[in-house]
Amino acid sequence: MTHHRSLGMDARITRRDFLDAALVASAGLLMQGVAPADVLDPRAAAFDGYSGVGDYAGANGNTWAVIQEGHRLRDRKFVSVRVSDVPPEETVDTVIVGGGISGLASALFLQRTARPRQCLVLDDHPIFGGLAKSNEIIVDGERLVGNQASALFFPPLPGSFLAEFYPSIGIDRDIFDYQTWNGSGPELPVGRTCYLSGGRGSSFYFGKAFGRPEGTLLVDPIERQLEGAPLGDDVRREVLSTARESDVRAKWQPKAHGDEAARRLDAMTLEDHVMEAYGISRETVRRFMSPILGGGSGLGADALSAYSDYAADVLLPWRYADGVQMFPGGNVGVARHIVKTLVPDAIPGSNSLQDVARGHVSLAALDRKGQHVRIRGEATVIAVEHEGPADRADAVRVVYSRRGRLRAVRARHVIVAGGSWTAKHIVRGLPESHQQAYAQFVRSPALVAHVAVRNWRFLYDRGIHECRWFEGFGNFLAVRRLPTFGPGRPTLSPDSPVLLTFKVLFPSPGDPLDTQVQKGRAELFATPYVEYERRLREQLSMIFASAGFDARRDIVAVVLNRWGHAYLSPAPGFFFGKNGAPAPGDVLRDQPFGRIAFANSDVAGIMDHRSSILEAKRAAAQIVSG
Ligand SMILES: Cc1cc2nc3c(=O)[nH]c(=O)nc-3n(C[C@H](O)[C@H](O)[C@H](O)COP(=O)(O)OP(=O)(O)OC[C@H]3O[C@@H](n4cnc5c(N)ncnc54)[C@H](O)[C@@H]3O)c2cc1C
Repeated sequence: MTHHRSLGMDARITRRDFLDAALVASAGLLMQGVAPADVLDPRAAAFDGYSGVGDYAGANGNTWAVIQEGHRLRDRKFVSVRVSDVPPEETVDTVIVGGGISGLASALFLQRTARPRQCLVLDDHPIFGGLAKSNEIIVDGERLVGNQASALFFPPLPGSFLAEFYPSIGIDRDIFDYQTWNGSGPELPVGRTCYLSGGRGSSFYFGKAFGRPEGTLLVDPIERQLEGAPLGDDVRREVLSTARESDVRAKWQPKAHGDEAARRLDAMTLEDHVMEAYGISRETVRRFMSPILGGGSGLGADALSAYSDYAADVLLPWRYADGVQMFPGGNVGVARHIVKTLVPDAIPGSNSLQDVARGHVSLAALDRKGQHVRIRGEATVIAVEHEGPADRADAVRVVYSRRGRLRAVRARHVIVAGGSWTAKHIVRGLPESHQQAYAQFVRSPALVAHVAVRNWRFLYDRGIHECRWFEGFGNFLAVRRLPTFGPGRPTLSPDSPVLLTFKVLFPSPGDPLDTQVQKGRAELFATPYVEYERRLREQLSMIFASAGFDARRDIVAVVLNRWGHAYLSPAPGFFFGKNGAPAPGDVLRDQPFGRIAFANSDVAGIMDHRSSILEAKRAAAQIVSG
């Protein structure tokens, strides 16, 4: 009980307030005769927890309600639904399944044609964005913003398609201005993203698992050659050699997609490649590099194609010298700019970075009768079926479940941009080639949590702004400087409130890929909010209590974003095919099925919003020419 109190588990704002508020809200809605399942179901409150304020309140990751529908799909509860038994309520030119960046961009490209198409975008979450959503949390009157998943934005190369695309949606700058320092003490080089920068002010923590129950925090560990680390000489040498990433990339990065080097990498695991490239042991890869290595693909390096670590740089090079950027809430910025372009009054004001980041979304404006593009949330598509044989049908029927009812819409075309994990369940009559292709797509889970703290003195006073650890819950945290066009103040000091972002992946190296995914997802979905909250509080206390951190005093709120199907995790052979068979992504990209084309970042095998956009462009072109 004392421990419970000292962790602040009984403190205000987080879980307890949320649960109380949920019960009050449920009672109120009941009195009005409204009974949305997720509000009334105490299991939903215990699972979703506090979700912050603003546009994304109640839309933190895969919420309980979204998951229930998803599981009905997975458990084939809808296979008996005859599409022809659900009368269509509307007819549109194109239905787009999925309101993430890829689905939204698909709708946009279909507006930019000689004959703009009327589109209906259906998404299972309460608001558009998919993995590109944000959390907003108010701390001491200040509105703090963080990414629910998709974070990094890459300044495009001049002359590239993206260099034209971003300004066309109002993103007229690709190097942002960030908070400037106004602390009374010396400035620390705080990064621009929620990820580790590895520079001055970084740190490593070693605790019980390394024989240091009292804990050791090493400041600038790489620069100081891991001095004082509880590691043997060989391990220390190997860990230091993992910092040579740029040399290794320069040596091993393939020159072109599909060249001999790329194919060789795709035929082996990332773990085997890294052992060869850095000259280190499997144990070092698993203990010190995973899961950050392979983090962009969500699993242990032993399960991934080695090419997964290079594909983005081979196919999507960018202006590296200008450095990676991040919108206030991550790539929600891109999603919001697309929506602002599609439905200008969905976000008030102009399409400037500032107005789009600060304005509030009008959900009503997104789905108005007669509008050329309509975007509808809480709509889980359960079936997509041609009216007759796919090669001759004039239309496609789309059935979706919304607020407890099945509804249908008739369309001339469909773009399935929701992702492989549902596409394979919903498209009826999918040819064997496409079924086999989708069977090779594995999406792994991730948890992105935000802990809002009143200040980060406990880091600053130790001379650090980021930390990595190798035991317990999560792996790292980093304070970030926010771009100044978002809400919040233009300056940062150690006394400013900040959001600490935890990205938790679920690798279990040594297990087969499917097992790693199943184990991770089972844990992600079975763990109540309160338990994750406790683990976060304990982890922070374990590492930073000796530096003055007090969970009870310092933590204001915890928001969880659970993603059951976060990352596509490409196994060896994913990119160029196995045993002479075509790569699964190529099957889906090259061959629309009748009037149905396939988008989403996962078809590229590269989890990146640029793939979402480029795959949308290709799918839209297939619809237009089809
Ligand atoms: C933790 C994490 C961090 C990331 N970080 C970055 C980053 O830093 N930079 C970057 O560029 N990319 C990043 N990504 C990659 C991310 O995948 C893309 O940036 C992009 O957001 C994906 O957009 P999408 O539209 O392709 O897919 P999604 O965002 O997954 O959108 C698909 C939408 O369709 C919905 N849907 C699925 N099935 C159905 C159905 N049957 N009916 C209705 N709706 C359905 C889904 O729920 C979702 O809302 C990250 C991904 C993760 C998981």
